[in-house]
Formats: sequence, C-alpha cells, structure tokens
Amino acid sequence: MRFGSDILKQADVLAGFTEDAPRVTRTYLTPQHRQAGNHLLALMREAGMDAGYDALGNVVGRYLAADPAAPVVMTGSHMDSVRNAGRYDGLFGILTAIACARDLAARGKRLPFTLEVVAFGDEEGVRFGVTLTGSKSMGGGFDPAWLDAKDADGITLREALVAFGGDPDGWRALDRRGKGVVAYVESHIEQGPVLLNEGLPVGVVTAIAGGSRLRAKVTGLAGHAGTVPMGARRDALAAAAEMALAVERIASQTPAGSPAVVGTVGMMSVMPGAINVIPQDVAFTVDVRSAVDGARREAVAAMRESFQATARRRGVGVAADVFYELDAAPCDPALQDALAASIARQRVPVRRLPSGAGHDAMAFPAVCPIAMLFVRCGAGGISHHPDETLTAEDAEIATAVLLDFLEHYVPAPAR
Ligand SMILES: [Zn+2]
Repeated sequence: MRFGSDILKQADVLAGFTEDAPRVTRTYLTPQHRQAGNHLLALMREAGMDAGYDALGNVVGRYLAADPAAPVVMTGSHMDSVRNAGRYDGLFGILTAIACARDLAARGKRLPFTLEVVAFGDEEGVRFGVTLTGSKSMGGGFDPAWLDAKDADGITLREALVAFGGDPDGWRALDRRGKGVVAYVESHIEQGPVLLNEGLPVGVVTAIAGGSRLRAKVTGLAGHAGTVPMGARRDALAAAAEMALAVERIASQTPAGSPAVVGTVGMMSVMPGAINVIPQDVAFTVDVRSAVDGARREAVAAMRESFQATARRRGVGVAADVFYELDAAPCDPALQDALAASIARQRVPVRRLPSGAGHDAMAFPAVCPIAMLFVRCGAGGISHHPDETLTAEDAEIATAVLLDFLEHYVPAPAR
C-alpha cells in the first residue's frame, strides 16, 4: 500500500497530542496545537516542501513549482478538534495532501503550479467560540474583533497568539484574495453515512450546506400540576414539543426532487422545571441546513409560521428569531468534474453529494473556485466522536484520487 497505512499511522501519532488523554481534544494555541503543528511541519519538510507557521499559528507547506511565478493550488484542512473527538476529522485532509507531495517529490515531478498544503490551527472554534479562524484569515473573512474573544479562563485570542509566538496583527497579510491562488481543493471524511450505505469509498461534494439558527421562546402560564384542569392550561412545554415535531415534519417534507433540508431542535430548557408545576417558559434552539439557500429559507419561514399557529391555538406566546445565517458554498462545476474524472480513473463509481457539515473550504469562495473530496467514514458514519473510523484502503483510494487530480489539473489564469 503506497499511502493508506502510513496516513492511518500518522493519524494515530497525532491523536497522542491531546489535552485529555486517552480522549482526543486539541484546541487552538495550546501546547498540543504546537505538538501537532511541529509534527506536521516535519512531515511536510520530509515530503520535500518548504514549511512554517504563519502569524495565526496555521502550518503552511509549499511544494514549489519549477516556475516561481506559477499559480498556487491550495489544499489542506484543520488540525484542531472538538472535545472527545475522532482522529481523522481535519487531519485526513492534511495527511493525504502531504502524501501526494511526498510521492511527487520522490518521483522528481514538479507541477505547473505550487501546491500549498495548509494545516489550519482553528476550524472548530472550541476554545474561543469563533469558527474557521484559520481559513477565514486566508479567505478574506477575518474579523479583527475576534482577537478580543476570550476562552474559559478569560485569556483573549490576542494574548494566546502572542504566547504562541504568533502575531495578532498579522492576519491582514494572510488574505489570499488576488494573490495567484487558482483553486482550493479539500479532502475530508464524510462525517455521515451516505457513502458507507452505498458501498463507495469516495464522493465529490456538490456544495457545502448553508445554515440558519434560531432561538425560540415559548411563554405559557405556570400552575399547580394537580389543580389546573387540562382544558384550562397554557403549557409552554407541550406547545414547544409540538413545535419541535413541526421542525422535523417540515424538514422531512421537502417536495420530491427538491433539495434536502435538515432541521434539528438540539437544546431545550424548561422553567420553572419542577415535577409538580405546569411549565411556564421554554427556550429551544433550531438548526436548519441545506445545500440550497432558497430551500433552507422556505423551510425556516414555514417553521416560524407553524410555531405561531401552534401558539395561537394553545394560548401561549412565541418568539423565534434567526440569530445566525450562513449561505451555502457551491463547489465549482469544473473542479467537480475533474475530481469525478480522477475517481473514474481509479475504477470507482462517481457519487456526488452535498456536505451537511461546514468545512474550511467554505471560507475560500472570495479567493478562488473550491472543491471537496469526501472519503467514507465507517461505524455508521459517526464523527466528532471517538468511534470515528477510516480504513487504510479508503485512505489509499482517496489519496490516489487527489494525486491523479493534481497531476491532471491545468491551472486557469488566477482571478
Ligand atoms: Zn472537519
């Protein structure tokens, strides 16, 4: 096996750089970030790349084109993790790209572009509550207000960056818009069961889903659980339960042939929260995603209408406000076709699928066209969990696809 078993071996080594062994937790600007970064830096250098940390603690490796003025193709993913994570989320996209560079270097083959592999320091946003810090700095979407975000110990991102040896004001120089980058192509584990259920090792991502998040508050009337007759109640929790079911129904009911919407009520709190008191106030969250923005917005509007109808019928109040909205990031059709051709050359059927989860790639549309390759997740498709798995065989195929893509890609002029 050329790549797969070594990628899994490296992922095992990186899993050892954790804040709470034997679990895997690696957050931004910690000693474990430094350990993982140093390990990846060494792998990049062994693979024939120029590599170093940038101002925000991202590790950047460059496999140089023969022509120093050649355009740049970027790839990579994140080296941070959620708490109690798996070992392939993010890291697979970095390790597979380093494996490609190593193979090219061993053959003495230069590409008509510089291949840049980035290990982003922070995608998940666990420590400071700000996601995609690394990729947004390069994609032109970094907000300097994030430097004042604090971790649980009150340390600001700015302070942590200085302690790490970074430069809090260096983010401006990382912006890659207009800097000769012609494509961003990220490999990632699917983090879902679609490829697994269809028996396929890899797939081409059509778009990264956009999302809307709502906070809803239902106001009823508390009362004694023993004395208030059923017909006279204004039970906020019974109403909220109906609303949660409406989220499920509306997300499931997208008409045949129209793009899929998923909706989740992930948090719910009940006040006063006593066994013998009718619930007075219930707060809950709604998370709605789709690869098609119109479908997502229609679903959100239908959910809010349904909440109002339930509230009127049950004599309770409801307020449901969108507090976060991010549009979908479509993948470039030409890059999708190029990845599909590389998959076909490995004699694997081509499956196209949207990504329900967010990824670093979604920070790059202002820089260049984006594309993503998914590799199958085992164990039911579970991710962000210690049971996350990837086989060496699938890592092998995915790396062969990426390498084939890189060797066939002819850069168009930069935007
Ligand atoms: Zn990830």
